[in-house]
Amino acid sequence: MRRSFCRTMIFLICITICTGSIFGESKAFAEGNSSIVFWRSREPTKKIALTFDDGPHPRYTERILKILDKYGVKATFFVIGVNIQNYPEPLKLIRAAGHEIANHSYSHDNSKDLNASNAINEMKSCEELIYNTVGIRPKLFRPPRGANNADVERAAREMGYSVVLWSVDTLDWKNTPPEDILDKVCSGVHGGDIILMHDYTCGKNTTCDALSLIIPRLLEEGYEFVTVSELIQN
Ligand SMILES: [Zn+2]
Repeated sequence: MRRSFCRTMIFLICITICTGSIFGESKAFAEGNSSIVFWRSREPTKKIALTFDDGPHPRYTERILKILDKYGVKATFFVIGVNIQNYPEPLKLIRAAGHEIANHSYSHDNSKDLNASNAINEMKSCEELIYNTVGIRPKLFRPPRGANNADVERAAREMGYSVVLWSVDTLDWKNTPPEDILDKVCSGVHGGDIILMHDYTCGKNTTCDALSLIIPRLLEEGYEFVTVSELIQN
């Protein structure tokens, strides 16, 4: 009886130590890998994500949607609140075509980086406009100009967002010749990359022409285009 009691106690102590250690390790692992900032996916894969910033806008959004549709490719659109207010229809088209919609701030104020007091306001205002226009709440945030900082990360964490930057910059906003964009993307791209393009810029841009070259070339090379959420889900 006493021996059986001892065996039971030893068993219980072992279980407590083991489970405590397992939970402890998994917690530490989760905390140690809990970064919410993504430049690319580190998964060994041929998946890549096209992203379009600064719309929605009548100038390019619809043309880009048509090119994506032609190749059956899904992308992610980081939209600006003031543009949603002015141009809700292109956002509805993005949603109807099944692309991912993500938050790129309300005002896209280029004069300064987001700070603690305005980061959450910018995120919330844009999110409400997205929700009121297409009925979804985004989970990804890209700060204007990619100007990430500790305040942005704190705000994103509080709002339940991941911060998404990029690993390939096409410089399409500089009116870069489409062939140069093609060369740059195709010579440097790796599986897991997040490619930055724009569906609105103040001046003329070469996004549509470059896109029509990039997509078929990368499809030929075996790449698969996915949304950013799909790319970083693991
Ligand atoms: Zn932007």
